[in-house]
Amino acid sequence: MPDSAMVDEQETLILQTLEQFLERDVRPHVMELEHNDIWPEEIVHKMAELGLFGAIIDEEYGGLGLPCSTYAKICEKVAHTWMSLAGIFNSHLIMSAAVQRFGTDAQKKKWLPKFATGELRGGIALTEPNCGTDLQAIRTRAAKDGDDFIINGTKTWISNGIHAHVMAILAKTDWEVEPRHRGISLFLVEKGEGFRASRKLEKLGYKGIDSAELMLEDCRVPADQLIGEEPGNGFKQIMGGLELGRINVAARGCGVASASLDEAVKYSQQRETFGQPIANHQAIQLKLADMVTKVEAARLLTYRAAEAYDRGERCDMEAGMAKLFATEAAIDNSMDAMRVHGGYGYSKEFPVERFYRDAPLLTIGEGTNELQRIIIAKQLIQRNPI
Ligand SMILES: Cc1cc2nc3c(=O)[nH]c(=O)nc-3n(C[C@H](O)[C@H](O)[C@H](O)COP(=O)(O)OP(=O)(O)OC[C@H]3O[C@@H](n4cnc5c(N)ncnc54)[C@H](O)[C@@H]3O)c2cc1C
Repeated sequence: MPDSAMVDEQETLILQTLEQFLERDVRPHVMELEHNDIWPEEIVHKMAELGLFGAIIDEEYGGLGLPCSTYAKICEKVAHTWMSLAGIFNSHLIMSAAVQRFGTDAQKKKWLPKFATGELRGGIALTEPNCGTDLQAIRTRAAKDGDDFIINGTKTWISNGIHAHVMAILAKTDWEVEPRHRGISLFLVEKGEGFRASRKLEKLGYKGIDSAELMLEDCRVPADQLIGEEPGNGFKQIMGGLELGRINVAARGCGVASASLDEAVKYSQQRETFGQPIANHQAIQLKLADMVTKVEAARLLTYRAAEAYDRGERCDMEAGMAKLFATEAAIDNSMDAMRVHGGYGYSKEFPVERFYRDAPLLTIGEGTNELQRIIIAKQLIQRNPI
């Protein structure tokens, strides 16, 4: 059997299994978990059993070794049901990808099998109170002390910050060097002495998943937890992972945009005004037509970026375009779905108000959409010199 046919068969099987899990174990509980902002412990255990925490980790380390194109479809399906769940494994997998791509053999053998099973779950801690987009301005410092580093600093808005066991922490190891990114390194740091979540952050949407402020106070970290062992490569290492993260966020955008569409299509055929379903009114049809077109276009951009990533090509422009378009589509479609629902769209008894609260986050996380436009434009010029 040709390789591509085997991949297709494996993908179909995985997506069917995922669909069953979402229908049986997630969908019935979303409303309660969402509106009470409960971390979904049982669902997380089941996600680990399904192998989601090792989705893109190589099989030799116990992961599923899936291509990014399959991973993107997984993220879309999960986000279609409940976007928060996708965040629980996405930042964990960006951390894992950094180890897989840039870690030493010893680091891969030590960490990846535990990441793959979800025995150790984590995330990425980049953002600080003073900076998010301009990551080269971070103030967290890691100073060499014998065979260890001592890390001090504060990270904020960190997804999985409370429930994670380990975090990839971006820190300055050289605060004099120019350009500034050469003085930045990436460490794996386990929760424990000197490293804790200091505060849970309350937010508009993206409920269930924990967002936290993290404190590192004289946190002693063995030098072999510096990813790749050579300091000064952290910025490059995490930026590589963010391409994967941006494709995931684009896929989440597809999920929220298509969930909004599905609810609008359903409701517009149930609700009647002036003696007929509102789906018969042209004003509603125009919305539905725009919504479905955006979903299809968002998917195509996302799959294209994922395929470029799988080919090992530079794909910051493709991932940026997918992220930009799909997440703006999520905002537009969630708003249109709310309008199609009239007053019920504003009710907590219907899911569309959740889509409306979740969608804006997608334009912020993994690099704001303003930043994506800058990346796209720079690449456009670079690829088309005169
Ligand atoms: C729910 C949630 C979860 C998150 N999870 C994580 C996580 O797990 N790990 C993590 O490290 N971070 C996380 N973040 C942080 C997120 O990545 C940052 O909020 C984001 O990168 C933006 O940074 P900022 O908030 O500091 O905004 P700023 O960088 O201060 O930007 C403010 C505004 O200025 C714009 N801007 C900035 N610079 C430019 C420029 N050069 N040109 C044009 N416009 C510009 C931005 O686009 C934005 O509109 C999370 C945030 C949220 C809300």
